[in-house]
Amino acid sequence: MANIIHVQKGTKDILPQEISQWHRLEQNALEIFTKYGYKEIRTPIFEATELFARGVGDTTDIVNKEMYTFEKSERSLTLRPENTAGVVRSFIENGMSRLSAPVKLWYKGPMFRYERPQAGRQRQFHQVGIEMFGIKEPTADAEAVMLAVDYLNSLGLNDLEVEINSLGCPKCREEYKRKIKEVLKPEFDNLCEDCQTRYEKNPLRLLDCKVETCKAIFEKPEIQKVIKSDFLCEECAQHYKDFKKYLEKLNIKYVENKLLVRGLDYYNRTVFEIKSNNLGSQNAVCGGGRYDSLVGQLGGEDTPAIGWAMGMERLNSLLEKPEAEKLDGYIVSNSSEDAFELAQELRNKGLKVEFDLANKKFTKQLEKAAKVAKFALILGEDEIRTNTVSVKNLSTSEQIKVPRCDIIKRIGEKNG
Ligand code: ATP
Ligand code: MG
Repeated sequence: MANIIHVQKGTKDILPQEISQWHRLEQNALEIFTKYGYKEIRTPIFEATELFARGVGDTTDIVNKEMYTFEKSERSLTLRPENTAGVVRSFIENGMSRLSAPVKLWYKGPMFRYERPQAGRQRQFHQVGIEMFGIKEPTADAEAVMLAVDYLNSLGLNDLEVEINSLGCPKCREEYKRKIKEVLKPEFDNLCEDCQTRYEKNPLRLLDCKVETCKAIFEKPEIQKVIKSDFLCEECAQHYKDFKKYLEKLNIKYVENKLLVRGLDYYNRTVFEIKSNNLGSQNAVCGGGRYDSLVGQLGGEDTPAIGWAMGMERLNSLLEKPEAEKLDGYIVSNSSEDAFELAQELRNKGLKVEFDLANKKFTKQLEKAAKVAKFALILGEDEIRTNTVSVKNLSTSEQIKVPRCDIIKRIGEKNG
């Protein structure tokens, strides 16, 4: 026998028994996002590598370590590790800044990151997310968070923690960066290799480090004092204050976390994450923030923007598993022709119906019906002659012979 070929490490098949949960994630996204005025956008799975280098930032783990990059016709291409850069490219290229603000876009689909696979972390995974362009006011930040919470609640997820922070603007952040570097200088040799690189390139990202020895260093009182210090300029402080005021008005409970800086380079002012207490160590389901300079950085007109993304696998693992869905009816008959005819008649009326394509024995067909359907629709010789069907309710075993035209009523009523 030939060798079997396995699925790649860090990737997974989504099997038929799981698909109804995926449909639920997608259906709720469409419904809830539409209520807030969002339209779906679908951008290509691969883009020019430069888009991510410029758009995500060359000090990020994503760009430095995690991209699937390949060459084709002397072009460097990359499988998208996230979708904000792609959506921004499309926004610019399609002149969407001419539309009246806000422009609200949402997406769903696979993303690719070369990282160490573990529970809640894959190499091909899926995100659902939103991007809103054109509004600099903190109302946009609050509405974006409200939408995330609304969506999560629609999925029955309530045990969540919303963490927020403000990264200020490039101006006020500069001084904060300088202070962080200064206080961490004596610890430089004790920092992990990544943090040593970040120290020069993007010192705020140090605060996001997951390495235990680094985390311990940041706990030191003199370092905590700098981390917790107020550095926001007047405008940024007002923006943050108003953002919090709207969250309170919307009854969204939040926790402020000064260590929350997010993994991507493009954020300014508001950043947030939503965590679930039921996920173990990969506990973030949603991450996002404001990125007012990205559109300009990628060659468009300066346009304020805010967005977030959620990991769909992580959402999925939090959802209650639905019971396998049953057919409305399974036709049991020795006459394939009559079974076929009845099946089509009922399918055309919107019912989920199957019959035995292999024409097995009557008793086998009944056994199968009991496994897969809510009702057995028995078409014996007698029923065919009298244009009736014996409808057997497979959970109560109650059986009743009805005229064919009454089947729907019978199944519909019992189903309803
Ligand atoms: P983390 O710190 O967990 O690596 P991140 O900051 O890299 O997260 P984002 O880029 O903000 O994640 O992506 C948003 C969401 O996408 C995350 O909160 C998470 O739910 C999900 N996600 C990110 N990377 C993966 C992955 N490799 N596998 C599964 N889900 C992921
Ligand atoms: Mg990551």
